[in-house]
Amino acid sequence: MKNISILGSTGSIGTQTLEIARAFPDKIHVSAISGNHNIDLLEKQIDEFKPELCAVMDKSSAERLRKRISGPTKIVSGMQGLEEAATINGVEIVVTAVSGMIGLIPTLEAIKSKKTIALANKETLVAGGNLVMSLARKYNVDILPVDSEHGAIFQCLLGNKRQELSKIILTASGGPFFAKTREELLAITPEMALKHPNWEMGKKISIDSATLMNKGLEVIEAKWLFNLEAENIEVVIHPQSIIHSAVEFIDHSIIAQLSCPDMKLPIQYALFYPERMPGTTQKLDLFKVHSLTFEKPDTQTFRCLKLAFDAMIVGGSMPVVLNKANEMAVDMFLNKEISFLAIPKMIENTMLRHQASPINSVADILEAAAWTEREIKRA
Ligand code: NDP
Ligand code: MG
Repeated sequence: MKNISILGSTGSIGTQTLEIARAFPDKIHVSAISGNHNIDLLEKQIDEFKPELCAVMDKSSAERLRKRISGPTKIVSGMQGLEEAATINGVEIVVTAVSGMIGLIPTLEAIKSKKTIALANKETLVAGGNLVMSLARKYNVDILPVDSEHGAIFQCLLGNKRQELSKIILTASGGPFFAKTREELLAITPEMALKHPNWEMGKKISIDSATLMNKGLEVIEAKWLFNLEAENIEVVIHPQSIIHSAVEFIDHSIIAQLSCPDMKLPIQYALFYPERMPGTTQKLDLFKVHSLTFEKPDTQTFRCLKLAFDAMIVGGSMPVVLNKANEMAVDMFLNKEISFLAIPKMIENTMLRHQASPINSVADILEAAAWTEREIKRA
């Protein structure tokens, strides 16, 4: 039996992780769950999975949930509560499925407690990649990717020599506005941007997919997970989302991973690695696929992807600024305070004003994020 803890159990990745737990009740026990505000769903999850711990970030929501629960599940709150869920005794795997940089500290604490990390929360690696990866090496902890592209690359690399890899090919669906012109993007509303053609996801990542920032964050995520430089990462638009990514070796052989687009597969793979369990998702029928197409990304229209490459190349605090500016811009767009095209503009203007400095500690990351927040509020 594997005991798991899910940071962000009420979200898209969190609920799909619970679907896998439900499919393998004699193999997975959910020891801890967590959310921010959604206590109705947390209550249902406690009732069904009977975790030992439930962490609710929002303190008043935690108080209200505590009053509703009669069983032995302990309800904790705030950042301390999330850290408790990340470090709880007896847990082998922590699934990091919160949205945004808030996942950084709990992830670091989970590593220090020697938990395997099933990582969905890419913003944590974007902001704190060097800290997370060096701590994981120090504590000899595996970081297993849940993101479908990185899960694909991880599988393609198995059994191959790392020094024979020439590049990774990160596929991108292109999002709901693939092939649209700048003029057509002027009138995009949050409602339009939230409709992704291939995936059902949380709001923040849905907007990131529409701007291509999601792919940008994934480029930086790949750098840290697989120890790559910019010239070894290629982004290819593949609207069908059947090839989840590929790797090219020095002999020009390309190995890819294919499946129906369903996050439950990479989640299941990470939870059971190095074993494979019988599939719980739809089988890919190649006869129904008809065609797989590939195109170069349009980084003029979709600036965010280029900004992410730029931030990665500069390094240090620049990716923290990129990530924080993006989190704020996406929030403002969702609240209808700024337009769709103002998202990359806001990020780029903030990056232009930033003098990158080295990141050696969590304090350095928090300082760069606080600087970004001040700059955006001042502008
Ligand atoms: P959702 O928005 O659906 O879920 C986010 C989860 O985090 C919820 O449980 C939410 O709680 C919780 N949460 C939000 N804000 C806070 C906070 N401030 N403190 C504590 N908990 C918080 O996101 P997704 O599941 O879509 O994405 C989660 C992560 O996984 C992201 O980093 C995303 O980039 C990554 N990812 C997602 C994929 C997908 O298909 N969805 C694919 C690959 C990666 P509550 O519900 O109470 O608000
Ligand atoms: Mg992805």
